[in-house]
Amino acid sequence: MIEPSWVESANQETSDFPLNNLPHGVFSRRNAPGSGRRLGIAIGDAVLDIAALAKEQVIGAPAGAENALVEPAWNHFMACGPRAWQDFRARLRELLAADGPETDRAAVSRAMVPLADVDLHLPFVVAEYTDFYSGRHHATNVGTMFRGAENALPPSWLHMPIGYNGRASTVVVSGTPVHRPWGQLKPPGRDAPEFAPCRRFDFELEMGAVVGLPSTMGRPVSVAEAETMIFGYVLLNDWSARDIQTWEYRPLGPFQAKATATTISPWIVTPAALEPFRVSGPERDRELLPYLHEPGPMMFDIDLEVTLRPDGAAADTTLTQTNFRELYFSPAQQICHHSSSGCRMSAGDLIGSGTISGPNPENRGSFLELAWGGKEPVGLAEGGTRVFLEDGDRVSMTGRAQGKGFRVGFGSCNGTVLPAIKYPGLGN
Ligand code: CA
Repeated sequence: MIEPSWVESANQETSDFPLNNLPHGVFSRRNAPGSGRRLGIAIGDAVLDIAALAKEQVIGAPAGAENALVEPAWNHFMACGPRAWQDFRARLRELLAADGPETDRAAVSRAMVPLADVDLHLPFVVAEYTDFYSGRHHATNVGTMFRGAENALPPSWLHMPIGYNGRASTVVVSGTPVHRPWGQLKPPGRDAPEFAPCRRFDFELEMGAVVGLPSTMGRPVSVAEAETMIFGYVLLNDWSARDIQTWEYRPLGPFQAKATATTISPWIVTPAALEPFRVSGPERDRELLPYLHEPGPMMFDIDLEVTLRPDGAAADTTLTQTNFRELYFSPAQQICHHSSSGCRMSAGDLIGSGTISGPNPENRGSFLELAWGGKEPVGLAEGGTRVFLEDGDRVSMTGRAQGKGFRVGFGSCNGTVLPAIKYPGLGN
């Protein structure tokens, strides 16, 4: 059921941000230079200026973290842990609920800025970025293309969440354009590589888990502990240069192919908001080792969609529709496994899920799969086809957990592909 708010726009069935949601973001007022980046909570078609509310003592910072609400990123608050997160959410609900006390409504109204008047920024400083590969349909599709159906899944795949350490430096917020990367490419049939703009630039539909509560070096965490460390979730596009990847990936995995950019949605949706949508993971083909056992259902029912709009086009083409629950390993299992060596997890670590494809062709989460390695062009709404991304293409991802008469939405995760830059020293 929708939780009614006195903020009318939050009670619309189609709002991503009803009182049930209360996602965390960072904004600045457009046309107000110098006002800086501030913490915000989305409610209906507005963002609540948390620094303003803290200044007026309408909402309190966690004990021992007095500055946590006036900083330009949520990291400090995130590190305070689940009890502080719960108290903060409870206070927000009190302030915004239709049947809540009316004492502070004037102050809350003053702190609301229309979403149309703000620019959104990265909601947290990304400490480190790890990308997993836990979508079984994706791993099977890619493995089938590269190694044949018999050897599609690597031998370890069903036993542990496979991942690699990516780059935090190129994680960007939705709306940031992305230049087509340069790289070493070796087209089939040629005996030497060339250095050129990527010709097989792709998106990957993923979700990111954001670590809030840190862990200690040398002390692995259980799956249950890992879940309590997760502050929230974002949509994530892991831009991928397939031709660079093909030439470089053996034996150490992706490097430059995945380092151009990783785009995330601007709002961190909390586990508390997603709790009504909790579901079990898939059946296991192989029994997992005990350290990876789940104490209960650890996935969420979140519908995901990707659309494409070429430069100048009037209509979006829906490329794929799938669901977060298609993942084989949950974010909690990924973090547990990540810490198993003694690796420390920090507030602000971003954990990519891996590409989330579903069982059918219309559920595939990348062009590599949709166009099956370039062999099956995808038709566009206004004519024309694609096998990979072209310059000017805008990729948009949306996600929502759909309740009865309300949704918990993630906003948009989008980015436009710009032409490759003029490369330094090449005279191109
Ligand atoms: Ca990926």
